[in-house]
Amino acid sequence: MSEKQIPYKIYLEESEMPKQWYNVRADMKNKPAPLLNPATLEPMTAQELGAVFCDELVQQELNDTDRFIDIPQEIQNFYRMYRPAPLVRAYCLEKKLGTPAKIYYKFEGNNTSGSHKLNSAIAQAYYAKKQGLKGVTTETGAGQWGTALSMACSYFDLDCKVFMVKVSYEQKPFRREVMRTYGASVTPSPSTTTEVGKKILAEHPGTTGSLGCAISEAVEVAVSTEGYRYVLGSVLNQVLLHQSIIGMETKIALDKYGIKPDIIIGCAGGGSNLGGLISPFMGEKLRGEADYQIIAVEPASCPSLTRGKFAYDFCDTGKVCPLAKMYTLGSGFIPSANHAGGLRYHGMSSTLSQLYDDGFMEARSVEQTAVFEAAQQFARIEGILPAPESSHAIKVAIDEALKCKETGEEKTIVFGLTGTGYFDMVAYQKFNDGVMMDYIPTDEDLKPGFDSLPNVNK
Ligand SMILES: *Cc1c(COP(=O)(O)O)cnc(C)c1O
Repeated sequence: MSEKQIPYKIYLEESEMPKQWYNVRADMKNKPAPLLNPATLEPMTAQELGAVFCDELVQQELNDTDRFIDIPQEIQNFYRMYRPAPLVRAYCLEKKLGTPAKIYYKFEGNNTSGSHKLNSAIAQAYYAKKQGLKGVTTETGAGQWGTALSMACSYFDLDCKVFMVKVSYEQKPFRREVMRTYGASVTPSPSTTTEVGKKILAEHPGTTGSLGCAISEAVEVAVSTEGYRYVLGSVLNQVLLHQSIIGMETKIALDKYGIKPDIIIGCAGGGSNLGGLISPFMGEKLRGEADYQIIAVEPASCPSLTRGKFAYDFCDTGKVCPLAKMYTLGSGFIPSANHAGGLRYHGMSSTLSQLYDDGFMEARSVEQTAVFEAAQQFARIEGILPAPESSHAIKVAIDEALKCKETGEEKTIVFGLTGTGYFDMVAYQKFNDGVMMDYIPTDEDLKPGFDSLPNVNK
């Protein structure tokens, strides 16, 4: 098919939307390592996980064998309100860069929460409702996940209790108010409403909180309140499963025009958007049917894949969650305070960690001023104001396109544009004022995090 016929936006018909999620674990020879009970160091059983998570989600978490899992009709209906997400050909960016490369991005920012997180939030809320629960608890840092979950819970008439890292609660009042508008209760963490919160406040009066602490509070409320469970917006296998909708739609759209990508790029925090975007392509790669260059992009200030260790670690700073085997900087790792670009999680999805360790994908770390330069360049020519997280992928997509300019190769590049950056204007302001700094931790800086790894690693 000739070049001219590829539109700026490739949309799917509703009837072409995936009706099943794809479970990449089914095609992995080396399965991701199981979650371990921190007390016994035995793999977590469904029953143990069921005290914290919804039953159906536990089944999905443990399912390493079914290649496809049906998307319930109610979730398909919700997806149709904001999906299919467009696959956009970045003609304007290509022209501006003067590259022979063909650049496409899958845009997940077309919903009020402003990111891909709604794809999993709606699934998790659905299963909670189906189980007859009253509500769910969670933590949120900057607020994207809390926002997505509050939208999903209001749709299914579920209570939603969000513990929001105190510094964000105070500095990002708009996100907080979006969540409250959707009916969620938002508590700054650490709070006096939980035992663990009181303990942390007693030990560290005046602390502005952390994600790890907010997780501990959310889990405590879930396990101690009848009819509640805890939900998480990234990292877990179940979240990657739900996010496979991104990759499946992308693949259907590309197939429609006979386009085969050479390079697929995504930003990586806990790994859910990247895992979702690459899943059907990775499946082909694992089955030996096709080959793709797959690149995870992370901040140089929080480099879990590029400089972390592949080891069992705590998923949270409070050490209440099961142990996961993943590329990690240690649960004690805290990114530099001047890091503004998101993707601050210390670990990485164990599925992606295994695939990376087995050589099926590569990883690159990028510094934040370069990320914001790419964000600005993209915004000015493609119109969309990208989230700082998404801009990590933009940065590497531009780098690859410029390489093609040098070599004359006409590679096809696909990247995930995970969301919009309207709530990140303090970070943009720093960049615009020229006061944004780069920070690359030294080996010395990373040592305390590695020293905090639990002693189960042989
Ligand atoms: C949360 C978030 C990310 C990172 O999370 P992953 O689980 O790694 O996908 C990336 N982009 C946006 C816009 C986000 O909100």
